[in-house]
Amino acid sequence: MIDKVIISADELDKFTEGNTIADKAKGLLKQQMNSWKLLSDNYEQLSNVKVKEFHFDGFIVKVQFNPARITSSSAKVDAKSIKERKCFLCVENLPEQQRGIEFNDYTILCNPFPIFPEHFTIPKISHTPQKLLSNFAEMLNLAKALSRHYSVFYNGPKCGASAPDHMHFQAGTKFFMPIESDYENFIAENKSIVTSENDYSLFTINSYLRNIIVIESSVKSKVIELFNNFYSAYEELSGNSEEPMMNVIASFENDVWKVFIIPREKHRPDYYFAEGEDNILLSPASVDIGGVCITPLEKDFNKITKENLESIFKQICLTDEKFELLVKNLKQTVL
Ligand SMILES: [Zn+2]
Repeated sequence: MIDKVIISADELDKFTEGNTIADKAKGLLKQQMNSWKLLSDNYEQLSNVKVKEFHFDGFIVKVQFNPARITSSSAKVDAKSIKERKCFLCVENLPEQQRGIEFNDYTILCNPFPIFPEHFTIPKISHTPQKLLSNFAEMLNLAKALSRHYSVFYNGPKCGASAPDHMHFQAGTKFFMPIESDYENFIAENKSIVTSENDYSLFTINSYLRNIIVIESSVKSKVIELFNNFYSAYEELSGNSEEPMMNVIASFENDVWKVFIIPREKHRPDYYFAEGEDNILLSPASVDIGGVCITPLEKDFNKITKENLESIFKQICLTDEKFELLVKNLKQTVL
């Protein structure tokens, strides 16, 4: 089944310059722009989307008005709704024009509803639930393989993934999310180290509206070990058997992995459920927390304020109190 979807080497060569997986993904997107109308139409619309910037103390947050994202932002992800629909990431349900590139147990596909100038969805071939712990090493492999042009991200099953029943990552243009460009300046100047040595560091970011943990290392096994430490500390704090809520963004730059982990308090802010004037349809996932908030409705794009953004981040990210406890637990496991 998957063979039908995988693009032939000859076809891909026609559109590809360079030899890395990232170059091939770029080539795939060019091929799909030529052969898949829905995708090329949505990319064309993306070039006209409106963007606003809000300035905070030392960093910015953007808001993008993107009508094509309405399905994803308003997706019903409760167990019943998921059970009643066909899984759109399973090979047999992919659109006829869709082609992909194999990457171990995953397929790199173009996302037909882009947010990034170049945007990919990377599902596992088999239909298995969205879970990070056992797939985290592969996330690092993908971040390295795609590093020439893209960063990789993961949305937990209750944190923005519109297919919580089918394991997948996404990838998008590097440095499109402000969090990545903040790394060298704001983040570098506002970190609190939790643990570090010559070849690794795990730290939090002060005064960044969002409580975030960052792991940085050139040693893959060290990144995995630190992530596992984080995961068990967080699991203990959450106290249930499901995956604790989180978004994760991973990139690979100058031989170093940078992993941003955003533990989550809730799936959607109060504004999402509010009636009338107070309603804002914004369902935050990695990209929003990375600093590009998506509003599929123009009324929300027009009215959203800096105070709304502050409140949204405050509601959906871990509270200061819980975050402090998490860091305290984490310190004990890494010592
Ligand atoms: Zn599936």
